[in-house]
Amino acid sequence: MGALLELTSKGIYCPPADLYLDPWRPVERAVITHAHSDHARWGMKQYIATPITVDLMHKRLGKNIQTQRISYKETFFHNGVQFSLHPAGHVPGSAQIRVEYKGEVWVFTGDFKIEPDAVSDPFESVPCHSMITECTFGLPIYRWPKSSTILHSIAQWHEQNKAQNLTTVLVGYSLGKAQRLLAGLSALGIPLRVHSTIADLNESIPTLRPYTSFIREWTKDTPNEVFKNDILIVPPAAADRTTLEKRLGPVKIGYCSGWMQLRGYKNRTTNIDKGFVLSDHADWNGLLQAIKQSGAQNIYTTHGYSSTFAQWLSENGWKAQPLQTEFISAETDVMVDE
Ligand SMILES: [Zn+2]
Ligand SMILES: [Zn+2]
Repeated sequence: MGALLELTSKGIYCPPADLYLDPWRPVERAVITHAHSDHARWGMKQYIATPITVDLMHKRLGKNIQTQRISYKETFFHNGVQFSLHPAGHVPGSAQIRVEYKGEVWVFTGDFKIEPDAVSDPFESVPCHSMITECTFGLPIYRWPKSSTILHSIAQWHEQNKAQNLTTVLVGYSLGKAQRLLAGLSALGIPLRVHSTIADLNESIPTLRPYTSFIREWTKDTPNEVFKNDILIVPPAAADRTTLEKRLGPVKIGYCSGWMQLRGYKNRTTNIDKGFVLSDHADWNGLLQAIKQSGAQNIYTTHGYSSTFAQWLSENGWKAQPLQTEFISAETDVMVDE
């Protein structure tokens, strides 16, 4: 890699500024793209991130971590290196990190998504010379349907379940997917209930406030009869059918993830009745759009099909190479535990 950012055993490092981007080992100073657990990890002396990400990190990593809040597009300097954070559209608070030094500009995308949702600041293209991009879905087979289409098919499926006296449970990652579902489905007038893990994170997400009148938590005392009319949203760790049915009676379980585009993926587990293609990452076209719009000539790929994607870019006019980082996709494993 270049001199401005380099890959070390602790993470992506900026030598002139002496700080790391989303490091996976404890370091002095870290700029964090978003609050997912593969990007915001334990043990940093100082965490620099957007205000929402800071609030979420306090929830997930503890009240006592040392943080600095930086708004989108605000610039800050370390040893003369200029940094700024720009919306990545992935989850609430998510950012791309722009680094500028002596006329050279790099962007680390973190995780990103092009199609806007109601709860995250929409992705903004940031011009740069070199780009480190995620490529969780970096194969041409991944092309997302419009999320409005998916939300309508969820609503239809919920009606069918109600007619059969079955309770609808939707599984989605507790940060990002859950709030997107909440905003999108409440706009269709569907009453919603959320698992306590999601309710807890919701408090830190101001963009969700217009929808909260539709959202109820469920507790031990919530009577069984009320569940049938609602859609229940749970994180993957709480999606066990046996446990759910003990509490709720017969359920239908739907899973929302980009991987549902892979034929047969949902059949890998008996835990899923229906898959919905809804991803918080860019699809193939989205990845290419982001790379083209940035104007970057040097592309480093990570977080997914890195080698294949870098190979394709190299054959199509870019200088590209994969980076061996330790980010993992929350969407990779159907039963991934947060
Ligand atoms: Zn993420
Ligand atoms: Zn990630």
